[in-house]
Amino acid sequence: MTIQIYNTLTRKKETFQPLEAGKVKMYVCGPTVYNYIHIGNARPAIVFDSVRRYLEYRGYEVQFVSNFTDVDDKLIKVAKELESDVPAIAEKFIQAYFADVSALGCKEADVHPRVTENMDEIIEFIDTLVQKGYAYESDGDVYYRTRKFDGYGKLSHQSIDDLKVGARIQVGEKKEDALDFALWKMAKEGEIAWDSPWGKGRPGWHIECSAMAKKYLGDTIDIHAGGQDLAFPHHENEIAQSEALTGEPFANYWMHNGYININNEKMSKSLGNFVLVHDILKKVDPQVLRFFMLSVHYRNPINFNNELLENAGVALERLRTSYQNLKHRLEVSANLVDNDQAWLEKISQHVEKFEKEMDDDFNTADGITVLFDLAKQGNVYLREENTSAKVIKSFLNTFEELFSVLGLKINQDELLDDEVDQLIEQRLEARKNRDFALADQIRDKLKEMNIILEDTRQGTRWKRG
Ligand SMILES: [Zn+2]
Repeated sequence: MTIQIYNTLTRKKETFQPLEAGKVKMYVCGPTVYNYIHIGNARPAIVFDSVRRYLEYRGYEVQFVSNFTDVDDKLIKVAKELESDVPAIAEKFIQAYFADVSALGCKEADVHPRVTENMDEIIEFIDTLVQKGYAYESDGDVYYRTRKFDGYGKLSHQSIDDLKVGARIQVGEKKEDALDFALWKMAKEGEIAWDSPWGKGRPGWHIECSAMAKKYLGDTIDIHAGGQDLAFPHHENEIAQSEALTGEPFANYWMHNGYININNEKMSKSLGNFVLVHDILKKVDPQVLRFFMLSVHYRNPINFNNELLENAGVALERLRTSYQNLKHRLEVSANLVDNDQAWLEKISQHVEKFEKEMDDDFNTADGITVLFDLAKQGNVYLREENTSAKVIKSFLNTFEELFSVLGLKINQDELLDDEVDQLIEQRLEARKNRDFALADQIRDKLKEMNIILEDTRQGTRWKRG
């Protein structure tokens, strides 16, 4: 088994070879938590969750880290506008993020590090860069000396002289060179700040990912991922910071997902077409949104509008109907039928085909096409005079398994184990807050889904009814 990954660094598909056999260290840049996430943030969340799920399906143990930027200019601005403070705004939108992406079927990362909880590591990282001559203090700010790093531009395939043309020193910046970027920013009056060797301030944006990837995953990681818009300058700067510090390659594979357009236009606040996931999910089944995102190859641009979303809903329903039809036939099927072997082989060929597509740079779009072929075969099988339970079960299991690789549910009513655990936790939290109405509501919801709770001294146990 070999998985091919398109590596932005080399602009080629490469055979995936992790640093350590059977293990994958993966880092995905997370959101700045000053608002609900928009549809553009949902794409990397869904895409790289599917990459993670597929690697796990292929037997890898994936260590998955995704950060929260919980202090920056935007957070400071919003906190001021709402007469709140930065930690309260961050906490609110971190919880909102979890609610949105878990509805979209994304698993939690092993670690979701936050800038404010890793300040010591960030300061130490910057300090080492200063000692090595890759960074310098200037009047309370610290900047990275971009020209000193030889490989600058290698990810975005630009030469430093091309970059030089467009670079300007902004008013208030105290840099040696227009290409230098901030690692530490001196605090303005009244702003949230941390003590550092350079006085009170806070980190620039790029340094957090270098410091947190190093802390949680080590000097070199296997896969670093994010939206295409992050490749330059964010990821370029991460490479410069990390490789200057360790002298080792920072990430072996760089993966970037394509842009999302709204009705063939770029999404922007000024065009008034800014779509928040929080709002879409009030009207749209999150599974449909996920299916829609995965129906296009992750590196291609994706166009979003209501009609396309509706089409995705109809397509998903077709697969589910095929599954339900097979399920209904299960009870009236014989144990064994003569042509079982031929059908079982046909089904396993579809699994192989699905794997082949996914091995080829996680081609979920063609993987979904294989699922439609499987549904077609299922429909053909149901026209047989005698059907066997063995074959039907194989169809059902295959659908369930391949759907779950994509983070999708073929059986709409089914709750996954981690969803049950989450609901139980929410119920416990509600009881702690003496919100018994909510706690009962959750219990009833679980009961409807055939999940039976048992409160014991050791905690709440559950089983499927
Ligand atoms: Zn990052």
